[in-house]
Amino acid sequence: MTDTDTARKRIDEFIAPFRVKPGSKVTLAHDFDPAFKAGIEKKKRGVELLETGVQMLAEYQARLAAQDTYGVLVVLQAMDAAGKDGTIRHVMSGVNPQGVAVHSFKVPSAEELDHDFLWRYAQRLPSRGEIGIFNRSHYEEVLVVRVHPENLDRQKLPKDTRDDIWQRRYRAINDWEHYLCENGFRVVKIFLNLSKEEQRRRLLRRIDLPSHNWKFSAADLKERARWDDYQKAISRCLSHTSTEWAPWWVIPADRKWFARIGAAAVLVHTLMDIDPQFPAVDDEQRTSLLEVKAQLEAEAPDGAAPDPFEEEQKPAETAAS
Ligand code: ATP
Ligand code: MG
Repeated sequence: MTDTDTARKRIDEFIAPFRVKPGSKVTLAHDFDPAFKAGIEKKKRGVELLETGVQMLAEYQARLAAQDTYGVLVVLQAMDAAGKDGTIRHVMSGVNPQGVAVHSFKVPSAEELDHDFLWRYAQRLPSRGEIGIFNRSHYEEVLVVRVHPENLDRQKLPKDTRDDIWQRRYRAINDWEHYLCENGFRVVKIFLNLSKEEQRRRLLRRIDLPSHNWKFSAADLKERARWDDYQKAISRCLSHTSTEWAPWWVIPADRKWFARIGAAAVLVHTLMDIDPQFPAVDDEQRTSLLEVKAQLEAEAPDGAAPDPFEEEQKPAETAAS
């Protein structure tokens, strides 16, 4: 087995418990433990693993961009204070910012409400070679909108489209993601799973630390009061929209460091699966490159090496032989 095969096997084993099996019926509280840490006892070990993950992501992302064939959409959903922002910041810390685009979705604008429900998300999709991150996503349309049906009233839907609306939306989302997948765009769906008690602690921390006060929103408390309704809506959503082409990954989020390794591992897994390659040049292109090389070498001023780069490589090669 090559090193890559070994790494891949370890990552696959690590993330397997987080995958929502397509077709399974999920009850979040019973099926997924927010405090699970996969036998990683020390945060220090977790931080080391994250560093490895971040490095791997950087390498794969460079190849993804160079190949310019596949795109990756990362969907991040969570309750408030689960650490979406910190996860994005840490997991993506090694990648070239040119190849990544983050979009946060808030309460829809009047213009957005004047379109079909997937319109605003479709406008923010990544291009080929890019990793696009949705900080909240089209899944809000079956989560917050379901918990607060007054949002649906604002969407100006024709009456007859409101029968079985949630089933229709699940189906529309699954079809849309399937279409994206068939067009070379992978959809990686991550739910950061926070416990109610850990959310309480984090909200208190936001109040207690003056530098965190700006993060506190009274609206978060109102949503927290609907905790059970959200858990139910999330469980239904996970049950209906985890598919073979775009499964959900439920990542334990009571420990921030663990959530970050979990998210990084799921993303690395996807990129390993795509296995993007730097474009190779064919013989004809190689011949013309060598012609240009000869020309540039001929332009070397007196005393300069014809090809300084080749010169630099030489000692290393000699040492290795
Ligand atoms: P932070 O973690 O910084 O608080 P946030 O993602 O919670 O970030 P906020 O501006 O606090 O951002 O909240 C955005 C709000 O917009 C959320 O309460 C979310 O439920 C709501 N929202 C997002 N999409 C929709 C939608 N389609 N319909 C109605 N509300 C939505
Ligand atoms: Mg918020």
